[in-house]
Amino acid sequence: MKGRNVVIVGAGVVGVASAAALALQGHRVTVVDASTGPAEVCSRANAGILAVGHASAWAGPSAIGSMLRAIAHREPGVRVTKYADPALWSWGARFLCHCTASAHARNTYKLQRLSRMSREVTRDLAIRLGLDDLVRHEGGLYLFQNEDQFREHAASVRGGNADLHGGMVVLDRASLIEREPALALAADKLAGGIYSPIDSVGDCHQFTCQAAEVLARDHAVTFRFDTRVTGFTRHGGTITGVETDQGEVKADAVVLATGVETSNLTRALGFAPHIYPVKGYSGTWTILDPSRIPRLPFVDETELLAVARYDGRLRVTAFAEFAGSHDLSLPEARLDALRDYVARLFGKAVDPDSAQFWTGQRPSTPAGPPYLGRVRKCDNLWINAGHGQLGWTMAAGCGALIAQALTNGATELQEVSSTASWLDPI
Ligand SMILES: Cc1cc2nc3c(=O)[nH]c(=O)nc-3n(C[C@H](O)[C@H](O)[C@H](O)COP(=O)(O)OP(=O)(O)OC[C@H]3O[C@@H](n4cnc5c(N)ncnc54)[C@H](O)[C@@H]3O)c2cc1C
Repeated sequence: MKGRNVVIVGAGVVGVASAAALALQGHRVTVVDASTGPAEVCSRANAGILAVGHASAWAGPSAIGSMLRAIAHREPGVRVTKYADPALWSWGARFLCHCTASAHARNTYKLQRLSRMSREVTRDLAIRLGLDDLVRHEGGLYLFQNEDQFREHAASVRGGNADLHGGMVVLDRASLIEREPALALAADKLAGGIYSPIDSVGDCHQFTCQAAEVLARDHAVTFRFDTRVTGFTRHGGTITGVETDQGEVKADAVVLATGVETSNLTRALGFAPHIYPVKGYSGTWTILDPSRIPRLPFVDETELLAVARYDGRLRVTAFAEFAGSHDLSLPEARLDALRDYVARLFGKAVDPDSAQFWTGQRPSTPAGPPYLGRVRKCDNLWINAGHGQLGWTMAAGCGALIAQALTNGATELQEVSSTASWLDPI
């Protein structure tokens, strides 16, 4: 049914992408957010890679060894800094249940389908909103400094399902430099790489803010910032509005795009999605010599960092840290790791004094795929949350699926959501 009055809670990239899809389907949309503007929380300074070639569930057979090494401080990029956290143990127990080979394959397949579909929707949406210059669809690189690691990944691409690998190409050192000449200065450190033609890159914050502006101006979407949703008004199993610190906002349907804060809101309704805040860090530098900065985004699979270039800026992100819900500190040791990487790879090509550091919490589900669908005990409450390390990659596709389900009940993809007893999953 079209023309409904839909309230979306959350103006991160997922909430704004949901607003776009719903407004374009003919609904009247209001987005409510506690922040001062769009994309101020986890969507603020992420790596910006639409990492379709990297869509894989964290939980899998290799994750157990990785967590044990992280506890022993021997895993690059992964840290556990808060053990006395009941939420971590409860989330961790569920994560472990998804570490079998079959669960990993099932969850990765869901993420791959969501990411592939989302890539096309992002492209179309960017064109429709006049923002196509903000996302570059030129592919991305996965780099290896370690020969054995490179050989293992190259073999899996060569021997794997070509369709699922999305036309990935294995590149030895020379072909890598040919594809991305700016890596020449780092050539002696690199064993090889994989080129993924289906990856894209763009500044998620800039895209979300400009999309919100266009939606408000041309598609009558209302944004209410500085407004915290504190609960719901209900009539039996129907939500009639959201309660906020600025009064009630009436609704025919509500979509929760509240990232790591989702369970704080839903507990009053008797369920709590398992979304753990996995902390990450980014640094952004002004580029002084563009000829020495790769144009293609890349993930360094050995040191576990992601690198992207937009306009005159270089962004580097790193770390998956289990630090509890409230820790948004920026410890010098983490920032030094980012500074050190940039100095080693790019030297004087960036201005070292221009660094701007940020931390964000990836809203991560134990299985990997987001919670996507209708909440069982309410006939008009929808959830679109828990996109983990792939929120920018999957936002447009997930927004489109929620809009399709809410409008017609039929969706172009099925069985892509994480499952839960309280959810009718898409
Ligand atoms: C270091 C790092 C690098 C990353 N790199 C990438 C990448 O390269 N590619 C990729 O695809 N993803 C990446 N991600 C993941 C991506 O950033 C997230 O998955 C995505 O931003 C989540 O978006 P969201 O809209 O769900 O959450 P958020 O952006 O956190 O938005 C949630 C919004 O809900 C609002 N809210 C919550 N509760 C309430 C309430 N009660 N009332 C009102 N408002 C409320 C918040 O204020 C917030 O604005 C990265 C993340 C990190 C940390």
